[in-house]
Amino acid sequence: MRVAVLSGGVGGARFVQGLVEVVEPRDVTVIGNVGDDVEVLGLHISPDLDSILYTLAGLNDEERGWGRAGETWRALETAGELGGETWFQLGDLDLGLHLVRTQALRSGEPLSSVTHRMAAALGIETHVLPATDDRLRTWIETPAGEFPFQEWFVARGHRDEVDAVRFEGEAAVAPGVIEALEQAELLLVAPSNPYVSVAPILAVDAIRNALSVRRVPAVAVSPLIAGRAVKGPADRMLTRLAGGTSPAHVAARYPGLIDALVVDEADADDLEGLGDVRPIVTRTLMSDADARKRLAEAALGAVVA
Ligand code: GDP
Ligand code: CA
Repeated sequence: MRVAVLSGGVGGARFVQGLVEVVEPRDVTVIGNVGDDVEVLGLHISPDLDSILYTLAGLNDEERGWGRAGETWRALETAGELGGETWFQLGDLDLGLHLVRTQALRSGEPLSSVTHRMAAALGIETHVLPATDDRLRTWIETPAGEFPFQEWFVARGHRDEVDAVRFEGEAAVAPGVIEALEQAELLLVAPSNPYVSVAPILAVDAIRNALSVRRVPAVAVSPLIAGRAVKGPADRMLTRLAGGTSPAHVAARYPGLIDALVVDEADADDLEGLGDVRPIVTRTLMSDADARKRLAEAALGAVVA
């Protein structure tokens, strides 16, 4: 079965890891968020694509939750000693990827092409595509002012409440994305942050349109358990921007775009207001490989059900 999945970074990558255990890896296309890409120390960083690549290659640090296992930080220490910027953590192993990507982009290679080459070099069979090759940047409006995504998330520790999220740039869909969405027998939205991981993907008009005219089921997985984000600001954002954290509040982030929502058992007593969206209740904590696989199976169940 061919599957296309919209994904942010860490939550999305964990889900995709389970997905490729139950679907042929080469039949899966991951469409990744680039709204939180950032230039640091002259390098182009694509944090969400990198989380997906590292996780699928088995190189990710499970405990820290992001970046590479066995990482060291000597280059960044040197940058700090020399008065360079150190607010964005870049490990020595990680830097190698950023160097290769930055050089390729500077020589005119599109992001989708360099991502494809790096995935192949890492032995990844799954297709990993950025939503767009163009510049698309997420901006966060807060009571303290408007910030580029990483300045709010990393430098300010996402402590400011969010009043609005905005996407800068007229971004065209990357090559391969529409084909993958049209050929898929199932469309998935990973348990990623709806506002800052999935919305920037849907901000590419052609992608949103492909989902809205789909002829196959589309299933989102909620990133909330008992109304709380497992990690990060998704619950605070939903409370402030949507008025609550129930499954209906999550589903409403994807209006007309999904047919089912996978929700945790801990949220099963609050399924009011889902409308046409069918709830699929299961355990959604991706605590280990088995749990990730079972969550993917529950989402795939939408096709046979
Ligand atoms: P980021 O780009 O690295 O922030 O990652 P994502 O947006 O893809 O994922 C962040 C979201 O993943 C958060 O809202 C978490 O609540 C959610 N998440 C993380 N782990 C789990 C899990 O085990 N189960 C579920 N349901 N959601 C999770
Ligand atoms: Ca992200």
